[in-house]
Amino acid sequence: MTANLLDFDLDGLAVFCERLGEKRFRATQLFRWIHQKGAQDFDQMSDLAKSLREKLKTCAQVQPLTPISRHDSADGTIKWLFDVGDGNAVETVFIPEDDRGTLCISSQAGCAVGCRFCSTGHQGFSRNLTTGEILSQLWFAEHTLRKQFNTTERVISNVVMMGMGEPLQNYSALVPALRSMLDDHGYGLSRRRVTVSTSGVVPMMDRLGEDCPVALAVSLHAPTDALRDNLVPLNRKYPLHELMDACRRYLAHAPRDFITFEYCMLDGVNDQPEHAQALIDLVKPKRGQGEPVPCKFNLIPFNPFPASGLTRSSAATVKAFAAQLSEAGITTTVRKTRGDDIDAACGQLAGDVKDRTKVDARMAKQRVIPLTQVSS
Ligand code: SF4
Repeated sequence: MTANLLDFDLDGLAVFCERLGEKRFRATQLFRWIHQKGAQDFDQMSDLAKSLREKLKTCAQVQPLTPISRHDSADGTIKWLFDVGDGNAVETVFIPEDDRGTLCISSQAGCAVGCRFCSTGHQGFSRNLTTGEILSQLWFAEHTLRKQFNTTERVISNVVMMGMGEPLQNYSALVPALRSMLDDHGYGLSRRRVTVSTSGVVPMMDRLGEDCPVALAVSLHAPTDALRDNLVPLNRKYPLHELMDACRRYLAHAPRDFITFEYCMLDGVNDQPEHAQALIDLVKPKRGQGEPVPCKFNLIPFNPFPASGLTRSSAATVKAFAAQLSEAGITTTVRKTRGDDIDAACGQLAGDVKDRTKVDARMAKQRVIPLTQVSS
């Protein structure tokens, strides 16, 4: 069977090379060629012995995901749709800013959590991505953009696991992908600049803290169990008090001294002053009523899609909500909407892949660069 070398972190690649009778430093060389130089062709890997290159050709390949489309926003945001087979696709988004380049990566085709405000959740769950499929989103974006920008410097400085899927429900594939992102022989990203976002899979938050502590974002979206049970069904399994305890435990390992809470602002549902006050009580309880959770809030303007039956909070409501949290001493930001001209709610483009007619119609309405015309 042919191994996809994108499936391995450096330790995994060392084991693979050992089985071929090769020393660990060969795995390091190979890893650097693949991830730092974006090489796929073993003949390009000039410092590997010819005998090893020939061996690799018989049993290994560097096989990234195949892109279906690329959408370029006027503000520089780029969204790729990747084919993951059986009519499924996943989305990857590059968001350039003055001081950073952030890539938002998917971990699953669909998602089993089923959050009410999430287009991906409405599609149901298809399957977990492999380590190679997770990592190849970074591999592809980094090396495509380096060629496009004509640079050998790193383009992507930050990764957020906030695309399609619940990353902690695909833990065994996620961790080697994260390790490759952090590895100095791979992408060399700082732990502080790699963020895993979870809807609150409590046991796996604990394991991530032990195995590969990176920055953590928690999709909170509601301040009470009654409301969160409805918006984020996983809350029925891991209610808020368990989630807050897991956040406190995670902070003992985390590279940052706070948890980021993501909060999607839904008109009339979770955006009222009493909701803000309940959030303050949750993360900064009064003396004798529990321990605080050092945190920042990121308020997200909801991206409406018809099946949700939900609407976006007004800008004034979001502003007042943010002010209430800030006045309570909680650092609060409002997520900038980026790539509006190419964007649907996260997951919508991928959800449409099974219906090619609909995809074609959508693309016709948007500024889409066919992949054949993209320099890579
Ligand atoms: S918000 Fe995240 S966890 Fe919830 S359904 Fe969407 S992808 Fe899944």
